[in-house]
Amino acid sequence: MAIDFETYDEDNIFAKILRGELPNTTVFEDDHVLAFHDIVPAAPVHVLVIPKGRYIAQDDFHRDASDAEIIAFWRAVGHICRELGVTDEGHRLIANQGTKSGQVVPHFHVHILAGKNLGPLLAS
Ligand code: 5GP
Repeated sequence: MAIDFETYDEDNIFAKILRGELPNTTVFEDDHVLAFHDIVPAAPVHVLVIPKGRYIAQDDFHRDASDAEIIAFWRAVGHICRELGVTDEGHRLIANQGTKSGQVVPHFHVHILAGKNLGPLLAS
């Protein structure tokens, strides 16, 4: 289904997680950021990092978020990778935007994937 980039969907899964309406397995949280394990891991390590603000994808996040939110987000990504122990062995960051990328959840998120040889960048 196409993502609506005009209006933030207050009922998306990650909004519900942020409101505490759905459970998650938190690996990191601060004032601006929440990170938790993906419910359908695509690798032995699969963590999702999300801003707490209402951003649909990378475009509106990088356009509309405050400097403090953006700095907190990317510092958290680096911190979480170190805490997960996947910095030196290697990992992959993915941020999907829109239909052709396969984005499903309309709340900006970065996937941290690690724990095995991740292979080529794209499957096809
Ligand atoms: P996207 O395709 O939007 O980039 O990735 C969305 C990710 O969210 C998928 O990897 C999917 O497995 C994950 N996901 C969907 N629903 C839930 C949920 O309720 N809890 C958690 N932890 N992950 C979810």
